[in-house]
Amino acid sequence: MGPNPAADPNAYAEALAPDHTFDGSLRPKTLDEFVGQSSVVANFRLAIRAAGDRGEAVDHILLSGLPGLGKTTLAHLVATESGSSLHEAAAPTLQRAADLAGLLTRLEKGDVLFIDEVHRLPGGVEEYLYAAMEDFVLDIMLDAGPAARSVRVDLPRFTLVGATTREGLLSAPFRSRFGIHERLEPYDADDLVRIAHRSAYLLGVGLDTDAARLLADRARGTPRVVNRFLRRVRDLAQVEADNHISPEVALEGLRRMGVDEHGLTRVDRLMLKSIAHAGGIPVGLKTLAAAIGEDERTLEDVYEPHLLRIGLVLKTPQGRRLTPRGHELAGIAPPDGGQGALPL
Ligand code: ADP
Repeated sequence: MGPNPAADPNAYAEALAPDHTFDGSLRPKTLDEFVGQSSVVANFRLAIRAAGDRGEAVDHILLSGLPGLGKTTLAHLVATESGSSLHEAAAPTLQRAADLAGLLTRLEKGDVLFIDEVHRLPGGVEEYLYAAMEDFVLDIMLDAGPAARSVRVDLPRFTLVGATTREGLLSAPFRSRFGIHERLEPYDADDLVRIAHRSAYLLGVGLDTDAARLLADRARGTPRVVNRFLRRVRDLAQVEADNHISPEVALEGLRRMGVDEHGLTRVDRLMLKSIAHAGGIPVGLKTLAAAIGEDERTLEDVYEPHLLRIGLVLKTPQGRRLTPRGHELAGIAPPDGGQGALPL
């Protein structure tokens, strides 16, 4: 099948980076279409219904979880299901209080303001949000130095939805201002199979159930990853397999993306090997990043959580070490032949 395809070393980094057009086209349009995360969905329904009955805005919501699990989608759904508009911003674009003021003063009653990567708001901007979240007012500073004075502006009641991959980095006062805290967990394979079928239908490509399962099993619990797999495999199916994804087509597509039978990518395998080569000495993130040539944050946010979750890597205050299974998949024996290896 196909001429000598080169495996794509960046399959996952690419798979986990949001692609707004593609993500948007597959995004569930109602809470009914949102697959899995049943307790989060039930809590959202209740909060939206109760706020609607009272004629109020939904409480502020903090959503945490790994990239690609559906935080942006849920923020959109809060707005849709409560019949209001969504305003979006990524925290790194809100570096000054004036950036935030610009956003807040455009809000209307009941609107949803979605701030992605909310743990990256600078302290000054975060503090400015406190009064907006709590009292729905905005204190705007006019002039500087001795002539400085502030003007108070009333804001409409709005809902802030903050999304974070690192809840632990949020300050306690900020976190406490969100009335609703929800954590998205990785999806089980059955949910990912359902997501793959739904996306295949929307993309207009045939998908065998066994093929959906192959993709789901390697998608590290993440809807965005299963959707990206599907997109890449669809290209292959379209060009070489009558627009139908059989298990063979799915496996070939995964192989071309450099995804192995354990769902590991080239970067995952490099991480395992780099840690194994340290011979039992815990390895720090900087060392790993330098050895692999990847950015520290990408390793920590995108790759490492999966290796920890499936029990290949252990994280200690001193650094990362491999479990016996991690050594096995790295193809490098533990330093003492496994005698002193850490238990799984
Ligand atoms: P995050 O904001 O957490 O990074 P997104 O909300 O952007 O994740 O979701 C990534 C992609 O996965 C989108 O294409 C979205 O449509 C899809 N997706 C996420 N969660 C679900 C779900 N529960 N059901 C169906 N598709 C989902």
